[in-house]
Amino acid sequence: MIGQYLSLIGLEKHFGSVRAVTTLSLEIGAGEFVSLVGPSGSGKTTALNMIAGFEEPSAGKIVIGGRDLTHVTPNRRGIGMVFQKYALFPHMTVQQNIAFPLRMRGQSNKTRIATRVDEMLELVQLSSYGERYPQQLSGGQQQRVALARALAFEPPVLLMDEPLGALDKKLREAMQFEIKRLQERLGATVVYVTHDQDEALTMSDRVAVMAGGELKQFGTPTELYRHPNSAFVADFIGRMNFIEGNCIENAGGTAMVRLSDDTVLSIRAQGLPARPSAGQSIKLAIRPERVRVARRGEGGSGCLAAVVQTCVFVGSVHILVVRLECRPDVLLQIQLPAEGGQPFRERDTVDLLLDDGAIHLFADTERHAA
Ligand code: ATP
Repeated sequence: MIGQYLSLIGLEKHFGSVRAVTTLSLEIGAGEFVSLVGPSGSGKTTALNMIAGFEEPSAGKIVIGGRDLTHVTPNRRGIGMVFQKYALFPHMTVQQNIAFPLRMRGQSNKTRIATRVDEMLELVQLSSYGERYPQQLSGGQQQRVALARALAFEPPVLLMDEPLGALDKKLREAMQFEIKRLQERLGATVVYVTHDQDEALTMSDRVAVMAGGELKQFGTPTELYRHPNSAFVADFIGRMNFIEGNCIENAGGTAMVRLSDDTVLSIRAQGLPARPSAGQSIKLAIRPERVRVARRGEGGSGCLAAVVQTCVFVGSVHILVVRLECRPDVLLQIQLPAEGGQPFRERDTVDLLLDDGAIHLFADTERHAA
């Protein structure tokens, strides 16, 4: 990553009374792969459209490679684009489709265009398909042609909006690696919109999580997974268990959290801030793989008693669903290593040990400990 390349500075977009994007600021490095994720309507496409120049921002600036492009027309921004619908020209062959953006940019030397088209076809591994028409290709092949076309003029910035949304799971996964491989090889800066968080985590250097038009958190996949800054991000990225409780004391790096009338958990956490303060409602959050399970009586002190509801083997892990005895309304999902036989059965009574260092406490929308 060489310095900041693409800067969004206080970007806003209002459609009448709808605030589609509010004060979005992102600094993206050259050659970085950044995904925008979030629920439907969170402003991802609007943000991308403003970078592309299809939507005029209501406020803010877009700077690419040191140039303020906020009010520059789309065709002068030097940006490549790939959308969910392949948008190939049906009456043109694959070769002609890929050559199109080169011609549009004033390239008239036929030999040069042909060489470039061949290179691009090789890059997306479709060398023998140049003469075909789009309708003679599979969905994945069409998407690769769309990619080749977007990359043909070597745009320093590539924007992709759900480019794999129309493909089945297997093909989508294969294409994720393909896109990543091409992006790394070409050193392109990519902004990628998806609502598939697994896809974002797999492909991205950093992920921007959006909700209601706002940026909630921007970080590497590991940062978002290990240190979510809000209950929303914790829930949106990966699987998370939540238990609602009440903070009855918070001092000296230890929080006492009441889960029910007779159950109080003492949670140690480094750097626990002043809040949540006593009396505050909180959400305790823990990942499924960070709960340890022992047979009843074998868990030691500080355990939570629970009863197994189901235990299923899903290939790589066992998924255990347990009900807390102190809070029958709470079901927790736990992931256990797959080695060995079925570790627990329905109605087994167990002790749960929540790994102290892996507990997050959230009050309102803030994160308080990890
Ligand atoms: P999805 O994942 O469903 O594609 P998104 O995160 O990309 O959603 P946007 O399409 O950016 O979300 O929409 C953000 C908000 O702005 C939504 O509430 C949407 O209804 C609204 N919106 C988008 N485009 C327009 C428009 N042209 N006119 C009015 N409202 C719009």
